[in-house]
Amino acid sequence: MTAALIVLAVAAAVIAAIVVPPLLARRRRARLRSAELPVESQRLLYRRVPIYRRIPADIRARLDGLVHEFVEDKNFVGCGGIEVDLEMKLVIAAQACLLVAGREGHHYDALRSILVYPGEFVVPEEWHDDDGVVTTEERVLAGQAWGQDRILLSWEDVEAGGHGEEAYNVVIHEFAHYLDEEEGAMNGTPALDGPTHYARWAEVFAHEFAVLRAAADAGQDTFLDPYAAEDEAEFFAVASETFFETPRELRDRHPRLYRELQGFYRLDPASW
Ligand SMILES: [Zn+2]
Repeated sequence: MTAALIVLAVAAAVIAAIVVPPLLARRRRARLRSAELPVESQRLLYRRVPIYRRIPADIRARLDGLVHEFVEDKNFVGCGGIEVDLEMKLVIAAQACLLVAGREGHHYDALRSILVYPGEFVVPEEWHDDDGVVTTEERVLAGQAWGQDRILLSWEDVEAGGHGEEAYNVVIHEFAHYLDEEEGAMNGTPALDGPTHYARWAEVFAHEFAVLRAAADAGQDTFLDPYAAEDEAEFFAVASETFFETPRELRDRHPRLYRELQGFYRLDPASW
């Protein structure tokens, strides 16, 4: 009898150890999200992040909560000698959270760390060819979404983007990759609402991607950065940058692409 009780007690402790920490983490995040973002932080975002000034008040209120949660919950790591201060955290968090400010549910829960480098950084990358030969190559990057738990960013590039004159925004780019990968593979199709939505998305994106790739191959000028012609994942990330940075131009030139992104992000930045 005593042995059975001990087994039961141990089982209960094990279950509690598994169940309780995620519950507490979720409650802590919800508390942070509903707490007011300090006024100094709001002022700083107003000054430092141009898109923040354009956002309608109701969306900004939700964004502020998400930013508060993000800054407190994520681990910001300065790499290559850089120290990440509150201002840097806020600038990154505001643009990352903008992507999910219109969407229901939880996002970025699995994301643990943001690694910030002073400028572009080098990562080793392995290539396997069809014969199984492995080649290691070094790549110089401004940002990288590394699985579901970390994102790497060059601070110099964070500062260079987000000014709305051109559609360059490394934070939006990498976090769009992150949302894309939430579905499993990073292939340019994030989590959508159902079969009809997937079918329409596939049709619009395949068409837009083919048109861009043909134009890029022919050396023609394109509205979307030709880097988007690399593959479907880059197309989605670059289109997302354009959607937030130069929304009216995107809506006028690629209305169907704009509508799909508007449906996914549940935001209409062209109207801001
Ligand atoms: Zn990319």
